Amino acid sequence: MRNSIRTRLIVTFIALAVIPLIVVISIAIPQTLNTETQQALVVQDTLASRESGQVDAFFQDLENQLQIISRQGDLLTVTPAQQQIVLSGLLVHQNAFERIFLLNSQGQEQAGVSRSFAIASSDLVSRAQADEYKVPISSNQIYYSSVHVDETTGESLITVGIPIEDFSTGKANAVLVADLRFVVVQDIIGNTEPSDLLRGNQNNIYMLDSTNRVVAHSDPSVSLRDLRFIPVGKSGVQNGLRGISSVLATSEIQLGDQTFTVVAETPVSQALASVYNTGILSVVLTGVVLAIAVIIAVLLANEIIKPILSLAVTAQGIQAGNFSQRANANRKDEIGQLARAFNSMTDQLQQSLKGLQDHVQDLENARVEREKLIKDLQAAKRLAEENSRLKSEFLSTMSHELRTPLNAIEGFTGIILNRIGGTDFNAKAEGYLVRIRSNSKRLLQLINDFLDLSRVEAGRLELANQPFSPIHLAKRWQDEIGILAEKKGVQFVISLDPTLPETVYGDEEAISKVILNLLGNAIKFTEHGQVALTVDRTDSLWGITVEDSGIGIPPHAREFIFEEFRQVDQTSKRKYGGTGLGLAIVQKYTRAMGGTVQVKSELGKGSTFSVSLPLKTTA
Ligand code: ADP
Repeated sequence: MRNSIRTRLIVTFIALAVIPLIVVISIAIPQTLNTETQQALVVQDTLASRESGQVDAFFQDLENQLQIISRQGDLLTVTPAQQQIVLSGLLVHQNAFERIFLLNSQGQEQAGVSRSFAIASSDLVSRAQADEYKVPISSNQIYYSSVHVDETTGESLITVGIPIEDFSTGKANAVLVADLRFVVVQDIIGNTEPSDLLRGNQNNIYMLDSTNRVVAHSDPSVSLRDLRFIPVGKSGVQNGLRGISSVLATSEIQLGDQTFTVVAETPVSQALASVYNTGILSVVLTGVVLAIAVIIAVLLANEIIKPILSLAVTAQGIQAGNFSQRANANRKDEIGQLARAFNSMTDQLQQSLKGLQDHVQDLENARVEREKLIKDLQAAKRLAEENSRLKSEFLSTMSHELRTPLNAIEGFTGIILNRIGGTDFNAKAEGYLVRIRSNSKRLLQLINDFLDLSRVEAGRLELANQPFSPIHLAKRWQDEIGILAEKKGVQFVISLDPTLPETVYGDEEAISKVILNLLGNAIKFTEHGQVALTVDRTDSLWGITVEDSGIGIPPHAREFIFEEFRQVDQTSKRKYGGTGLGLAIVQKYTRAMGGTVQVKSELGKGSTFSVSLPLKTTA
């Protein structure tokens, strides 16, 4: 059933439903991911620039505030107490300042204020060797130190040195030094209104110093962490602060000769949450589509396959010989059509089968009938044969029985006519006696013929196989017939093949009966002309031909004259007499000897009877 239509249908349907979805998803998701990543990077870039701008502006503002004070013409000349007041005002006004000091031209702290503790005049030290003094003095430029941790507060600070110019020389002759709290910078970047990208994740904007240490971050635990791996100035997707793959952008700020970097980073999972969600949704959707496709495919396959299976079961039933089974054809669809076509086919099949069965029955009946007929025929044949045998037997017996008295009649009539016993009868009586003798002769002839025929028919003709000379036999016939011909004034000619063998084997008397019959007929039906007897031979046959120039035989009679008691017509009978048995004897005897007899004739010109016999020269 692995390759069943049902399985294939289900697989095809699922493939049709799910493959396009997978293709679309597999094309769409990477594209969306790419676009979203680009967009996220743009947002991060913007954010980093904006934040760095704000930090930059903040430092600018601090510088300005410090510079405003530094440019007060009398700052260096007023009393230290007054200087202290000015510096305190600044400290109060701006909480980014941790400490502010005024250094004189020798680098000595003139006045100082601190947010954490009070600075007494005795605390004031010289910073002549410190960079925050030396750099502004020598370069007349603002100086920024590296970020350092305050021992007292533990906060990250950056020290800024602002040169104070001597208006008469235009050169720096004093320095205003301030320690700035990075925690304020932290507040600036920490308070940034989060973009959509950063919603719920404000900790991801932080600041690095020139050595890539974290100097501003909401989480103090990461403070001053070394983040050397961050590729400053490059935006992209990479591992961020916490080692998580992130969408990350940087923007630089220049403070003095210190380069700071603002980093905006968001974990990829968050930045590209929509894409990830779409991905998860796609997987879920694919799963749902798959499940629906499976259910629909199974239902559909069942809908299609079930009726086909039921049709197959019906077909198998019909194949097994149950022709009364029909498929369920209630459906209106193609399967219903199929079932109806199948049913009508089964109807036709059933009808044909019925016709066939009827036909077979008819044939069987005919066979029984025929067998009965054959039996009847065989019985009739046996009966006929028995009858024929009985008839022949009867004829043979009767003929034999009749011959004895007839011979006696004929003999005694002859004796009387020959006047052997006396002459006391008149001419009239003699006439009667002649007619008695001739009629009894005819009757005797008839009986002899009957006897001959019945012998053949009863299968009692026993043919001899004796040697005799065909030439002598022909001569004998000539002697017998020659007298008759002479009496009638018909010429009798005989022609013998010189190649005829001396001796042949066969039944001399049977052959004589055939030929004498033919010669007798020839003389009888010939008034003028001649009768010719020809005896010749071929390799295996010898032929005896009797030809006359008599009345001839009409074509229609040439067949039936060989039948018993058949003559050409009644006129012939009246004129020539005869019984119609002669030719029947000729044909039956010839066939009994394995030969044939044929007749050719032309009405008014004569007839030719040809007998052909096997030539046997040995016994
Ligand atoms: P039958 O001579 O006793 O009548 P056959 O059987 O010998 O009987 O001959 C049948 C008939 O065939 C004859 O009656 C005659 O009409 C015809 N027939 C036979 N031989 C000849 C012949 N040589 N010429 C003409 N008709 C003949």
